Formats: sequence, structure tokens, C-alpha cells
Amino acid sequence: MLANAANAPAKTAQKPAPAADLGPLPEWDLRDLYPSIDAPQVQRDLDRADAECVAFEESYRGKLAAIAASVEPGRAFAEAVERYESIDELLGRLDSYAGLLYAGNTIDPARAKFYGDVRDRLTAASSHLLFFTLELNRVEDATLEPALADPRLARYRPWFEDIRKERPYQLEDRVEQLFHEKSVTSRAWHRLFDETLASLRFKVDGEELAIEPTLNLLQDEREARRHAAAEALAETFRANLRLFTLITNTLAKDKEITDRWRGFPDVAFARHLSNRVEPEVVEALVAAVRAAFPRLSHRYYALKAKWFGKTRLPHWDRNAPLPKVKTRTIDWAEARSTVLDAYAKFSPQMAEIAERFFAKNWIDAPVRPGKAPGAFAHPTVPSVHPYVLLNYQGKPRDVMTLAHELGHGVHQVLAAPNGALMAPTPLTLAETASVFGEMLTRSRT
Ligand SMILES: [Zn+2]
Repeated sequence: MLANAANAPAKTAQKPAPAADLGPLPEWDLRDLYPSIDAPQVQRDLDRADAECVAFEESYRGKLAAIAASVEPGRAFAEAVERYESIDELLGRLDSYAGLLYAGNTIDPARAKFYGDVRDRLTAASSHLLFFTLELNRVEDATLEPALADPRLARYRPWFEDIRKERPYQLEDRVEQLFHEKSVTSRAWHRLFDETLASLRFKVDGEELAIEPTLNLLQDEREARRHAAAEALAETFRANLRLFTLITNTLAKDKEITDRWRGFPDVAFARHLSNRVEPEVVEALVAAVRAAFPRLSHRYYALKAKWFGKTRLPHWDRNAPLPKVKTRTIDWAEARSTVLDAYAKFSPQMAEIAERFFAKNWIDAPVRPGKAPGAFAHPTVPSVHPYVLLNYQGKPRDVMTLAHELGHGVHQVLAAPNGALMAPTPLTLAETASVFGEMLTRSRT
């Protein structure tokens, strides 16, 4: 089913771009998830996922109201939720492996096919699980509450409270099923965006660069290089304007349809709901930040323009290093010790957990052709561990990104014992851990 190039472990599949002054950069070892893209374990788990999802549906569909009314509802619900959780873990492992493999090289056809095939299989399998939370939400609180007194079920209370928040926007089962199955085609637009972005080339002073090295030049100390990079970005983006417009408009319409069917009052509501935050809180935050523009960002950029001897700062100077400040490249070893020392000063345990990411190859640091741009920490599943993706190029900002993603990573390791259903956190909480990691590091540099 799957071909050649990607059979090799991620380590040798792609040569990293030369980065002599950064020292050796680690690449992640995904074998803690699966031995390889064509390993029999992948196929076995995909088949198991199908079978377990179907069996779960046969066991429970249409029966939750009866369970709620039974003599020992707590025990019976706990069994169901535990089984649901273990299936969730199995699906999550496959999903994480395919997603990370793909992020490592989004333009490799073998990986793209594998990712697409796995996502398709998982969507089909999980369509048999969809009924569970929908049906649970039809069990009245008064009926469910006595069951939650059972200690085995009680630990899942936060998960129950979470799915209850979706209840007012839940649609009939067949519509939910349709949304679920159509998510494959909606997601394809995200893939088109990601793959297009990763394959774009930007011509800077006669040299063709991918997006990450081009963006990196916006922090170059030479203005001519920054200017050339900014022009190159604009030129290539302009050449792809039609495609990006179509992608954006399609995704906006897709979201509008979903929001309207679910009865969300405005465009940001879905985000607030998944962030578990009240709209008024976000509005207050936005208003406070906006009010501070004149005395913070406007003043800062005016000051920066003055330091550059200009009346108005051109856009290619926005991320320029300050004049008179010596810029230098920070190699990987120094980035590592900067972050670990900062973490250790706050908590040796935090540093010890972060250290594992370096020692055990949980980080993919180099810039490579076709690799997903940006950075992220992916928790995978509680029985494995998180992985961190970076595009490390030795700028102070890259060290902060490392500190940020490791903040997520440490949090994800510590949250894993909560299990597959309760380890994940809303973005609002997740970013607290990462920004904290950054602040620890900033205060040390
Ligand atoms: Zn983050």
C-alpha cells in the first residue's frame, strides 16, 4: 500500500539544510509510536481500531438511557467510558504518528498518502463512536448525577462537564454524522494550504529559499537582506493570490455553514466554546490590549524608527534586530543550556522533564525542505510522550520558541496521567504553560 522513500526512518529520509554554526541539530525519533510507516503494527492497529469502534457501538448504542436507569449505573457507565478512553488512545496513537510523519515532510508523496489514508480510516472508524457523547448528552443531569457518585466514574466528572458544554449546539445524530464524514473533505483544504506553503520558493538576491529561511532573513542585521526577503515574500504570495483566496474563502464558507447550523451567535463563538472561556472575558482582554496600543506598540515602533534614523518604520524593519545591539547566532548546545538552566532555577523537576526531550530525541529541530513551517508541541497519547517540532535557525527568537514549546511539552508530560480523555486542555490553559516557559527563559537572558 505504501511506497519506498518513507520506509527509511525519518533520520535519513531528508538531509537537513547546512547549518554549520548551529552545531548538530536533533531530529525526532518517531519509533516510540510505530517502528516505521509500513510496519505491520500500523496495519494491525488500523484493523483493531475498526473492529473496536464497531463493537463499542454494538455494545452501547441506544442503551445509555437504560444504563442510567439500572441498579448500578456508575459501574456500567465507568466500564463504557474506560473502554471509550482506550479506543480514543488507540486512534490517537495512529493519528499522531501519521500527523507527525507528515509534518516532517509535507511534500513527500508517500507520507502525504499515508497521512490521507490513515485519517480516512480513522474518520470512518470513529463515526461508530459518535453516538456516545451525543447520547450521553440526552441523559438528564438528574439521572446522571447519582451515577457520578460512583468513585470509578467520579474521576471522569470533568470530562462529563466538558461534553455538557457542547449540548446546546448538538444537532440530530444524522446531521452530526454528515458533519463528521464531511470533515475529511474540509480538512483537505487545510492540507492544500499547508502543502502549498511548504512547497513555495522565494527568490532572494538570486537564491531560491523556502519559507522558513526567508522569514528568518526578516531578522537579519543587514537592511538590504531584510528588504529583499520582504519583497520576495510579497512577490511569491502575489503569484499565488488566486489559490490562497480560494482556500480562505472556501474555509470561511465552510465555517459559516457549520456555525449557522449549530446556532453559534457569532464568528468567534466556536473558538470561545473550545477555549472554555466566556466571550466577555475575551472582549475585555481585546479592549485592554487595544487601549494600550498608543502607549506600548505605537511608542515602541516610533522609538525603533528613530533608532534606525527613520521617520516611519518600513514593514521589513518590524522584526529587525536593534541597531547597536550585537547579533550573533546561538548554537543548539547554548539554546539547550539556556532553556534548561532557566527551567532548573525555577524547578529542578521541570528541567528534568525538559531534558528528556533532548536526551531521547523527542525534538525535530532543523529546517528541511517540505517540513511544516513554524513550531509546535504535540502531546500524542498518554502511553507515549509529546514531540516538539521547530525550525531552529539560531536567532534569539528561536531560543524563545524552544522555551515556549518545551513549556507545552513539560505540561503535556505532567498531564498524561489524567488519561486520554482528560489530559488534553483548552488552548487558553495550554498557552499558560508555554508562555510561562518563555518568561522563565526571558528573565534569564
Ligand atoms: Zn503555544
